[in-house]
Order: sequence, then structure tokens, then C-alpha cells
Amino acid sequence: MNPFDYACPSSVDEAVALAGPDSRFIAGGTNILDLMKENVLRPGRLIDITRLPLGEIASTLEGGLRIGALVSNSDLAWHPEVQHRYPLLAQAILSGASAQLRNMATTGGNLLQRTRCWYFYDTGTPCNKREPGSGCGARDGVNRMHAILGASDACVAVHPSDMCVALAALEARVQVKGPHGERSILFEDFHRLPGDQPERDNVLADDELITAVELPAEGFANHSAYLKVRERASYAFALVSVAAALDLDGNTIRRARLALGGVAHKPWRREKAEALLVGRRAEDGAFAQAAEALLEGSQPLTYNAFKPELARRAIIRALTDAAGGTAR
Ligand SMILES: Cc1cc2nc3c(=O)[nH]c(=O)nc-3n(C[C@H](O)[C@H](O)[C@H](O)COP(=O)(O)OP(=O)(O)OC[C@H]3O[C@@H](n4cnc5c(N)ncnc54)[C@H](O)[C@@H]3O)c2cc1C
Repeated sequence: MNPFDYACPSSVDEAVALAGPDSRFIAGGTNILDLMKENVLRPGRLIDITRLPLGEIASTLEGGLRIGALVSNSDLAWHPEVQHRYPLLAQAILSGASAQLRNMATTGGNLLQRTRCWYFYDTGTPCNKREPGSGCGARDGVNRMHAILGASDACVAVHPSDMCVALAALEARVQVKGPHGERSILFEDFHRLPGDQPERDNVLADDELITAVELPAEGFANHSAYLKVRERASYAFALVSVAAALDLDGNTIRRARLALGGVAHKPWRREKAEALLVGRRAEDGAFAQAAEALLEGSQPLTYNAFKPELARRAIIRALTDAAGGTAR
């Protein structure tokens, strides 16, 4: 590990003023410390944000919920309002990592965790995300976990978060503060596809801090499901995951939300797939068409040719579960 400066600001403004291209914030530390120990990241300064007043969950004027960036994944998943009104989010969080990790991991850190592509972690191999211009070891390498949608020649990594898949489906917003003030980013626009700049996972600037995530009032509490398919039953990242949420009038779909994890560089949504469900009866035929639309243009790699079919089945199953009523 390289030597680095350590700062522990007590206000958001102070934290932002300390930030820059050679610095990194540290919250729970469950991802960034591993990356530093493996020499994947070598920041000159660590800015410890754990003393900032960003640990609250509060109602918003619009009837939604504002989640401070330092709220732990455990506290968020078990918060009564989240359990009651946003069970999709609670399910997604609780399907990830382990209880100990969720106790440390924070809301902001979860959004900004880096890919689990093993070429990214292995400094002996090329990786455009770790070292722009060095090449992509995964594209023709061991790519079972990798992207089937939205990838580029430069990068086939996927975003590993479960929580983010639910936040995408719920159309959360990310609240950010930088030296020029605050901004609010729609979740859909927060993470990026890799293109020719895979080193950039999202639209956050180096000196911007996530202060909160805001949920809208609608939580699809009665008809939602998070389905995670992985190599083993716990403590594993998703091969494919699905966040499905429906608003039903009897058995007719009024509104639908669908987001996929494990298939792209960001949680994967398509308006067309959701629009196809509206006005239809909540049954297999409509679900299969939505799956088709969401996965259209999939481009599997050598070792993940199974993913489009796995994703198709997972989408139909998650929609079926959601239609049957949220499991509590
Ligand atoms: C063994 C293991 C298994 C895991 N399994 C899963 C899983 O199945 N599903 C899943 O979703 N996750 C999983 N995780 C990932 C875990 O959820 C993340 O490591 C965690 O959410 C990161 O949060 P943190 O607070 O520890 O972030 P940190 O490690 O502190 O930071 C991560 C990144 O976020 C930045 N950052 C943190 N907070 C802010 C902020 N407020 N503003 C701006 N930048 C910020 C840091 O600079 C850093 O770049 C797993 C992790 C491990 C180690």
C-alpha cells in the first residue's frame, strides 16, 4: 500500500474543499480498502467522511424518503418505513454481501463500489478501467460474470450492486454536493455505460460528495420482487438480478418498472419493456414480451452465453412473483 495523507473533516463543506483528483472519500471502507491493499487505487489523500452529519433517514415534503449517504445498508434495509413502503429496496439490500459487511457498508459507498471484474483487481493484467489504454483482459478472457448489454470494445465489466438495481427501478435521485453547490441526479443518469472511458463509472466529479439518496413517494409496496441468481445461495455477487415492480388494477397492469443487475455497466432499464406491460393482464405472455424487449440486442461473450436465457427466465419469474404480491 502507498503512503497517503488522512483527513477527517467535520462538515460537508470542509470535505468537499479537501477533495480533488488525487483524493478519495472513505465511508464504510469495505471496498476502497481492498482496492488500496491490492494497489488498484493509490490515492494521495483519504478523506474520512464518517463524522459528517449524513446518517439520517427522514421524510421528504413530497412524501418520499431521504436517506443520508452514511446510513448503513443494514439500518436502511431494516428501517420500518423501508420495510413497509419500499420492500423491493429492503429485499435487494438483504440479498447482498453478509450481515457484517452490510453493518459497515454505507448508502453512498454502495452506489460507488467498483466492479468485481477480476481483471480490474489483478494488476498483472490489462484493464482499461484501472489503467486507461492498457486493453481489456476480460473481453477474450474468463468472462462468465461479465456484461451482455451496453458493453464496449474497451470494457465488458458489470456494476455489482444489488441495492442500485432496486434504486433504479424505484427512480430514486442522488443528491450531490460539490464546490459549486448542490445538484440532484436521476438514478438512471448517475451510472454510465463504459464507451471509450470505462475508467468513469458514473457522472460524479472528483470533488463531489454524495449527501443523500431520495426515494419518491411511490414504493410499489404491494407488488414488487427482487430476484437474484448467483453461484451460491449467499455471499456472492449476482450473475443476473431483477427488480420488478407493478401497480395493478385487479389483474391489469397500470404501471411497471423493471431493472436488471449483473448484465451491464449500470442497472439496466428500457422504457420500451415497461411500456409493453402497461394495460396488459399480468400474465406470462406479457411478461415474456417485456423480457424480450429488455434483453434485445444482448451480446454474450465466450463464457456467458447462458446469460440472456437466464435473464429472460429470471425476468418472467420476478414479474410473476411481483404480480402474486410482495413476499414479506
Ligand atoms: C466480500 C464482499 C461481498 C460483497 N457482496 C455484495 C453483494 O452481494 N451485493 C452488493 O451490492 N454489494 C456487495 N458487496 C459490496 C459492498 O456492498 C460495498 O463494498 C459497500 O456497499 C461499499 O460501501 P462502503 O461504505 O464500505 O464504501 P467505501 O469502501 O468506503 O467506498 C467505496 C467508494 O465510494 C466512495 N464513497 C463512499 N461514500 C461516498 C460519498 N458519500 N460520496 C462520494 N463518494 C463516496 C469512496 O471514495 C470509494 O470510492 C460486497 C463486498 C464484499 C467485500
